[in-house]
Amino acid sequence: MALYDLIGKQNNKSLARLWHSKPKSTIELSYLISTESPDEAARKARFAHENGYKGLDVKIGFDLKQDLEIVDAVKHTAPNLYFRVDANQGYSFSNAVKAAKHFEKIGVDIFEQPLKANDLLGHAQLRRKTSVPIALDESIWTAADLIQAVRFEACDTAVIKLTKMAGLTGARRCGEIGREAGLELVGGGLTESTLGLSASAHLFNYLEIETPVDQNGPMFLFDDPVEEGPRIEESTVHLTDGAGIGCKVNSSKLEKYKVE
Ligand SMILES: [Mg+2]
Repeated sequence: MALYDLIGKQNNKSLARLWHSKPKSTIELSYLISTESPDEAARKARFAHENGYKGLDVKIGFDLKQDLEIVDAVKHTAPNLYFRVDANQGYSFSNAVKAAKHFEKIGVDIFEQPLKANDLLGHAQLRRKTSVPIALDESIWTAADLIQAVRFEACDTAVIKLTKMAGLTGARRCGEIGREAGLELVGGGLTESTLGLSASAHLFNYLEIETPVDQNGPMFLFDDPVEEGPRIEESTVHLTDGAGIGCKVNSSKLEKYKVE
């Protein structure tokens, strides 16, 4: 990321322009719902709907019955939002099939990583039993992983994340291969600061990812090293077209958080 930022700054071009992609002024964030209570899930879905979010990302994968109650409560409360359901490897094959059948009925846009990361064959078999698109996240860290997933026909969608894929070069390579292989791409993140969010946004725009992305890092962080950069307004991130990644980092904060 630092090298791309430097190259951009030396050429006085944002990452988007450096990559000859069309700079977009905004990206849309999805709203994260992670709870064991269907009532709380419904409350959060209502909040997201009322505050202009276009998509929801619901974490499940614990107890099938409770999970379905949570998903139902969310769908009932906010039926028209883009609906991504992420089981984080939590299901057995038989429970994944039961969940997928239920999701077909109520309408879920993506069923993410239901089975263990190394179970590509299981995901491929699940895909043949359901019409709900299956996304892989923890199964795909590198371009080699992505190629294996394509060879196994294990997914419809790949989750692109900067940190998981070791930075912009790795994540961009995964995205390009996935796109050429005919996969859908969705964007995600770990708990990055605004700096990571901004670099991810350039990449997602370059890869033409249009669905709301799971990039909620800054709202979970106590502090942020970025003093000038994109402006986050509820569900919308307003990007700058500044050189490189487009952020100005506060150097005294870098000093403060430095690990010797
Ligand atoms: Mg995930």
